[in-house]
Amino acid sequence: MKERSILQIYYYFFTLSLNNATLAPQNSVALMIMQHKQRQILVTSALPYANGPIHIGHMVEYIQTDIWVRFHKMRGHQCFYVCADDAHGTPIMLRAEEKNISPETLISEMQQEHQNDFNDFVINFDNYHTTHSSENQIFANTIYEKLDNDGHISKKTIKQFYDPNKEMFLPDRFIRGECPKCHAIDQYGDNCEVCGATYSPTDLKNPVSVISGEKPVEKESEHYFFKLSNFEEILHKWTRAGHYKRKLSISLMNGSRPDCRNGIYHVMCLILVLKFQMRQINIFTYG
Ligand SMILES: [Zn+2]
Repeated sequence: MKERSILQIYYYFFTLSLNNATLAPQNSVALMIMQHKQRQILVTSALPYANGPIHIGHMVEYIQTDIWVRFHKMRGHQCFYVCADDAHGTPIMLRAEEKNISPETLISEMQQEHQNDFNDFVINFDNYHTTHSSENQIFANTIYEKLDNDGHISKKTIKQFYDPNKEMFLPDRFIRGECPKCHAIDQYGDNCEVCGATYSPTDLKNPVSVISGEKPVEKESEHYFFKLSNFEEILHKWTRAGHYKRKLSISLMNGSRPDCRNGIYHVMCLILVLKFQMRQINIFTYG
């Protein structure tokens, strides 16, 4: 990030004052612990994507979270702030290709750039890592295998657009064509920016691959789905047990209905499932 704004200067002095506050006499901290039972809190922010630099909008989230974490550490709680570069996905592969470097080189360069920016803004992560790590692979495999062994994963063959030139399946945003409703040209594969319609990429008229400009072909591929409906009852009870404000509980459960296709709620509910299974620890997700 190239911007070095006044915000950074304000933030620097703000964190200085917080750091000084943490140097308060031990008995002040002990008193705070006495007044509030010590909690174990694990905090993260949305993982920055490794295909480009961090912008000021991203940084606002990290600053807010960092302030929250510092506050809870000052209160004597055991609070860990962890984050990582999100190093997987088609845009990373394409960006690396554009720059004529390997994806591994791109994600390594980006991680260094991101960490330099975080250091400049005095964001104090307890651990900053990458999704392209052996630890992440082990945990992802473990979670997946456990879910699969317990019958919570289903497989389904779906048709998807495929770029025969690049020999790859195309995400919705990498297909453009004519809107099936208003016939506006050059619209994304998932929604029309002119009339606001949402649709499946296969509904687009005259679709083209953004990557090669070729006409994509439909091809079958096997997809894996997490059966959120298996957890509906337990989540319904748990989200209403006072862990969250009522409004958030309702919103979560509305979003987790089997007919809901919004992936965000599915991920949030997966986090809730994991949290339910790990009751000794609190997980908060910002962003
Ligand atoms: Zn349209």
